[in-house]
Amino acid sequence: MFSVNLINHAGFSNGQEQKLISALKKFETVMNSDLLKQRILNFSSTLGNRFEDNLGLSNEQVFEKLYAGAEEYSPLADYEADLYLFLVKKRRPLLSRHPAIGYGIPGQKEIYTYTWWFNSAVDYDYAGHIAHEWSHKVGFDHAFNPTSTRNFSVPYAFGNIIEELSKQII
Ligand SMILES: [Zn+2]
Repeated sequence: MFSVNLINHAGFSNGQEQKLISALKKFETVMNSDLLKQRILNFSSTLGNRFEDNLGLSNEQVFEKLYAGAEEYSPLADYEADLYLFLVKKRRPLLSRHPAIGYGIPGQKEIYTYTWWFNSAVDYDYAGHIAHEWSHKVGFDHAFNPTSTRNFSVPYAFGNIIEELSKQII
C-alpha cells in the first residue's frame, strides 16, 4: 500500500486547499491501482518498450523505484510520497507560449506551483504536476529543452499517466 504524505504546505487559501487535498487523494488512489502498474510496465514509445532517461532501468524497475518512494531527502524505501507543496503567487508570463507552471530545485524537498496555473487547473491536473515534480525527487530527470522524445522521460510520462488515470476517478 502506497501512501501520499503531505508533510508541509504553504500559500494555499481554504478553497485552494480543497483542490490540493482532492489531488493528493487521487494521486494516492492511482498509485495503488493495478492500472498504473500495467501502464508503466507496458509503456512504449518511439524508443521501444522503455522510458527516456530511464537510468538504465527496465519499465518494471522504474515502477518499483517510483513505488518505493525513496526521495533524495528521505532515502528510505517507505512506499510513501513525502510531499512539501508550496503555492507561489505569479501572473502568467505574457510572451512565453509554454511557460513553466512551477518548479523544484534538484536536491531539495519543495515543489513550487504558480497560482496563475493552479487556479485554472483541476485536481487531476495538479496530481499530474505533483507526480512529475515528485519523480525528480526520487531521482528521475529529463532534457531541459523540449525535444521530440522528452515526453517519454519518466517525469513527463509518469506525470501524464497519473493525470490521465486521476481524471477517471470521480
Ligand atoms: Zn521536470
